[in-house]
Amino acid sequence: MRVYNFSAGPAVLPEEVLKKAASELLTYGNSGQSVMEMSHRSKEYEAVHNECIDLLREVMAIPANYKILFIQGGAHMQFEMVPLNLMQKGTADFVVTGQWAGKAFSEAKKYGEANLIASSKDKTFSYIPELDSSTFNKNADYFHICENNTIFGTKFWKLPETGSVPLVSDMSSCILSEPVDVSKYGLIYACAQKNMGPSGVTIVIIREDLIRDLSETKTPTMLQYKIYDDNNSLYNTPPTYSIYMCKLVLEWIKEKGGLSAMKTHNEKKAAILYDAIDSSKIFSNPVVKKDRSLMNVTFVTGNEELDKKFIAGAKAAGLVNLGGHRSVGGMRASIYNAMPAEGVQALVDFMKKFEENATLQ
Ligand SMILES: *Cc1c(COP(=O)(O)O)cnc(C)c1O
Repeated sequence: MRVYNFSAGPAVLPEEVLKKAASELLTYGNSGQSVMEMSHRSKEYEAVHNECIDLLREVMAIPANYKILFIQGGAHMQFEMVPLNLMQKGTADFVVTGQWAGKAFSEAKKYGEANLIASSKDKTFSYIPELDSSTFNKNADYFHICENNTIFGTKFWKLPETGSVPLVSDMSSCILSEPVDVSKYGLIYACAQKNMGPSGVTIVIIREDLIRDLSETKTPTMLQYKIYDDNNSLYNTPPTYSIYMCKLVLEWIKEKGGLSAMKTHNEKKAAILYDAIDSSKIFSNPVVKKDRSLMNVTFVTGNEELDKKFIAGAKAAGLVNLGGHRSVGGMRASIYNAMPAEGVQALVDFMKKFEENATLQ
């Protein structure tokens, strides 16, 4: 029996996608082989690769002057790759709204001047700081945000106004959850294992003019965006099976009505869960309401023992991976695209039952 999996990542995948992958596991199309076994130079694989790129462009309405790259090394490698490739003048602005944004900031310090524009660390990252664009560095090579904070459950609902400074966004945990205007960004990166597919591939969407030729520098070849762009992300062996799975997920999203349908679906689920938390006597959500994430919903009872009891009880009821990030504790329900509304309803029903029992004792 499959459980409802609230993991932050690797995370739940649509059941239809897993079934389709299973049906194609031994032989893909007429190839007589699994996608896993194919040469990355074969016509069959290249078709999968290009279909994934085309589907992502279509689903996200990515303008023609943006390139789509498949890179390994996770979102973490982008914390390095972004400054290595974009810090031309040697300075960038950062908003630190959680652990991932903090890591992007500290990695960038190795390569140039990283300016901290604002941070929400003072209140355990429970809000998104108000930004005043007059405090931004006009000379910066880029302005970095982590758009959805997977660990703390906050989200930028309004993008910083950076003018001509390219906005760089870590969209790992919100990509494909709603329509976005890609033209507002210089670069978007997202590891696949939250809302796009299995782990192994990270997607970079980069505005053409930001791709620089670094061949005369010491920058490792595999850390240069231009190498990926010049070779359609086939300079070396890409994570072929992960890319294939992303293609299936994108087909699934398209069939469900695209990103506006995903947004409706995600808003509905998040409303069910936040309403249950807000009307509960024992559970609360620490995030400022207007900054709440639709993807990662954090909640606590205020009593560590009770939290543990809740997580264990939920697990026994088939609601798994509800523990908060190891750095913060409490509970976190990640409700990405692939989490059905029934899963969120089952969680809410379990919370009500748990609350009744807890308040009886
Ligand atoms: C998960 C996550 C990361 C880290 O991803 P890795 O692929 O493990 O490096 C970074 N940023 C955000 C927003 C995430 O959700």
